[in-house]
Amino acid sequence: MNQNTMKTQPGRSVAVLGAGIVGSAVALALSAEGHRVQLFDRADIGAGASYGNAGGIVTGAVTPTATPAIIRSMPTYLFDPNSAAVLRPRHSLRVLPWLMRFIAAGRPSRVAQISAALAPLLSRSMPAHRALSALGNGDELIQPVGWLKVYATEAGFERAALERRLMREHGVHFSILDAHEVAELEPNLNRALLHRGVFQPECGFVNFPMALAQAYFESARQRGARFTHAEVERIEPLAGGGVSLTTGEGVLAFDAVVVAAGAWSKRFARQIGDSVVLDTERGYHLSFGPSAGGLLRRPVVFPERTFVLSPMHDGTCLFSGDELAGMDALPDYRRIRALVPKAREVLPGLDASQVEREWMGRRPSTPDSLPVIGRSPRCRDVCYAFGHGHLGLTLAAISAQLVAGIMRDVPEPFDLTPYRIARF
Ligand SMILES: Cc1cc2nc3c(=O)[nH]c(=O)nc-3n(C[C@H](O)[C@H](O)[C@H](O)COP(=O)(O)OP(=O)(O)OC[C@H]3O[C@@H](n4cnc5c(N)ncnc54)[C@H](O)[C@@H]3O)c2cc1C
Repeated sequence: MNQNTMKTQPGRSVAVLGAGIVGSAVALALSAEGHRVQLFDRADIGAGASYGNAGGIVTGAVTPTATPAIIRSMPTYLFDPNSAAVLRPRHSLRVLPWLMRFIAAGRPSRVAQISAALAPLLSRSMPAHRALSALGNGDELIQPVGWLKVYATEAGFERAALERRLMREHGVHFSILDAHEVAELEPNLNRALLHRGVFQPECGFVNFPMALAQAYFESARQRGARFTHAEVERIEPLAGGGVSLTTGEGVLAFDAVVVAAGAWSKRFARQIGDSVVLDTERGYHLSFGPSAGGLLRRPVVFPERTFVLSPMHDGTCLFSGDELAGMDALPDYRRIRALVPKAREVLPGLDASQVEREWMGRRPSTPDSLPVIGRSPRCRDVCYAFGHGHLGLTLAAISAQLVAGIMRDVPEPFDLTPYRIARF
């Protein structure tokens, strides 16, 4: 095998494994600090989960996925095909360790701790995106249009009381809107189904998330970073320091490796000897194409109907909740298709005959809704940046800044203990 050593060149050589929004942001933050970065992906930049998400930079998402109410309703919830999360029976046994931890994360005391751990990441998420995009590319892709949740009933609004309490506790700005105010923000919504709204004005929106990953990498490339299209098979600490990375082309040695392989990251942590509880909450989208453009001004969440509608670059898109089915099961588009009539009820301008694309993506999800950010306790030349679950676009830039700080060994800007891989 060809052993190509980059370690002797000046500066630090860093391999970034995975070119989703997280890996691309990391590549840029490290290139901007003078590291010599090589980004690896078997697919195109931004083609994983980062391709088709709902585009929200949701700075107020301080409520973890596991909450006491979710845990209480899990038995019906997971097996009801119309709920926000479904479990494929075949995956039940495999997902059990993840589910046990998920249930533990839903205790009130843990929810408070997790929310407190999400808050410093989220409050820095927009400034971090602005700082990365100011390095060259991507700024125009981030629109300051806010994030809107719309409730059709008082009962639905009441069920989200915990969310509003946690947002208040962590200083998230939001306003509660009546039906008239919601209609002013989004005039094309069906007024008969508007009861209340919750609007977070400070959230951002990216209507083409893959393009943001590519824009970040372009800025990194302008600073000398390289992209290698290859399947990474293995990473391994080297005896004298540094890490080797094996692809089909051979073995390369780097001063450091950042694992940012999204839902596929567990395998690489295992190779280093770190264990992590990571599964995928798969999500679907369905695009109504350009004919359905211009109907919305921002992403709109319909919590009672368990979907999001967003005005993406190529038309309005419908996004589903979670499916626990593992990494390899074939997509099952029946669920997202079943949501189309409900989507047309809230946004009557949608034309169901115009569906242009169906897509499935794998959210890289930890059971406690917190990402894994930090050095491996077994090899300080391996740094982790994965497990961002529902918030990978939101948290990509702040995660990248933290990784750059960790590599520089500067004091932590806030306590990074909750994100350590050692918590598993
Ligand atoms: C329907 C849906 C809606 C969402 N909406 C939002 C939202 O509004 N806001 C938000 O913040 N988040 C949202 N998310 C979550 C967000 O999309 C993810 O958290 C984020 O994309 C994860 O980014 P990533 O870079 O970690 O992973 P990915 O984008 O999946 O990138 C990982 C990359 O690693 C590569 N890779 C893996 N293994 C290997 C290997 N062996 N060799 C080479 N390459 C490898 C893959 O090819 C992939 O490109 C949503 C997700 C879904 C599914």
